[in-house]
Amino acid sequence: MSTFSLEEAAFETRQIHAGQVADPTTGARALPLYQTTAYQFRDTKHAADLFGLAELGNIYTRIMNPTQDVVEKRIASLEGGVAALLLASGSAATTFAVLAVATAGDHIVSSKYLYGGTYNLFHYTLPTFGVEVTFVDNPNDPAEWQKAVRPNTKAFFGETISNPNNDILDIEAVAKVAHENHVPLIVDNTVATPYVIKPIDFGADVVVHSATKFLAGHGNAVVGAIVDSGNFDYARYPEKFKSFNTPDPSYHGLVYAQALGVGSAFGANLSYIFKIRLTLLRDIGAAVSPFNAWLLAQGLETLTLRMKQHLENAKAVASWLEKHPQVEKVNYSSLPSNSYNKLATKYAPKGSGSVLSFEIKGGIEAGKKFVEGLSLHSHVANIGDVRSLVIHPASTTHSQLSPEELINAGVNPGLIRLSVGLEDIEDIKADLADGFAAAK
Ligand SMILES: *Cc1c(COP(=O)(O)O)cnc(C)c1O
Repeated sequence: MSTFSLEEAAFETRQIHAGQVADPTTGARALPLYQTTAYQFRDTKHAADLFGLAELGNIYTRIMNPTQDVVEKRIASLEGGVAALLLASGSAATTFAVLAVATAGDHIVSSKYLYGGTYNLFHYTLPTFGVEVTFVDNPNDPAEWQKAVRPNTKAFFGETISNPNNDILDIEAVAKVAHENHVPLIVDNTVATPYVIKPIDFGADVVVHSATKFLAGHGNAVVGAIVDSGNFDYARYPEKFKSFNTPDPSYHGLVYAQALGVGSAFGANLSYIFKIRLTLLRDIGAAVSPFNAWLLAQGLETLTLRMKQHLENAKAVASWLEKHPQVEKVNYSSLPSNSYNKLATKYAPKGSGSVLSFEIKGGIEAGKKFVEGLSLHSHVANIGDVRSLVIHPASTTHSQLSPEELINAGVNPGLIRLSVGLEDIEDIKADLADGFAAAK
């Protein structure tokens, strides 16, 4: 008799098998692409049961799709969560993860070390929805998070490894302050991936991903994901999280924290992911395309193999850059000289990802010439591709900022961001050497 249990199998086994069996209708072994909008009901009772959640199943691809379902289960397994939701992009995932707990009149606290798009969402767009955000200047000082908390605070937010400066979040310390204040900690684990950091193990409640990056891994699909740990019990704080604890008139009077929460018939706390799927996704509609979900599944199957090589190449590039006479500073936490090295050793012992940045001597002009001197590296606004990528923020993503604003945003005029790819390390270094020669 087989004693094999997929749930207890290794990370590498689950990245290939979790959430999927051979297709019951056709026997197809690889994950089929279900490129369909709708699903035929057996009869009117079946339809009514699906809409009433008396039976779980497919209704319409804006809300769910069988290809998407497999990938959601797989990502939930890899992050150690109870459920996941794929969305049209990482930005949609961040937006929905926050709006599920914070609406008009509410407040969240965030680390200031953020992907530029997330900074725009928090600084400009969420306030137009009535959600205020306080940014913490030193995210690894728990006292700063505590000081920022207000009676209407509904969540904490941070990136486990920040883009582009590779800072590491002290997840355990920040989660402790969040929980003392009865709010969930939401983290963006895009740069790390669950191969490098499993934030739920350190107390994070929700993990979001731009799966566009390392999870899909090939620079060919825009996808987002939200994973819920199931550990935050919204039923414990009925005053703070009213929308989880009062009947939802838009969904059959469902009370999410009771019908789908801790101790419900589902055997796990699924209230957070269901609430997002049944309201925000239903109404705002940032649905993932089945094809992009399918591409993400292809990427996940080789996550470990790719991440091992990304990490090996990134460490080699970081050490090489640190010794280069034209380099002022390297931002890579796994370097022993880096101020985040202690946190990197604790949270990311395999290596602090493969997105790093460095300051080139000679400022903005040297930065531009360096990028123009590269030929193997692709000059793009992306990370997490098999290809090595480069960008010079001061002349691209941050070009509208004044010199003072650049410094405030932590973007040195000579800062260059690299996403170290999977090419041969000697070819990568030779190309970077061409860039330095051009910048001289
Ligand atoms: C790219 C990125 C996002 C946004 O994801 P999209 O899929 O492009 O919408 C969010 N967070 C981080 C850290 C990213 O790098």
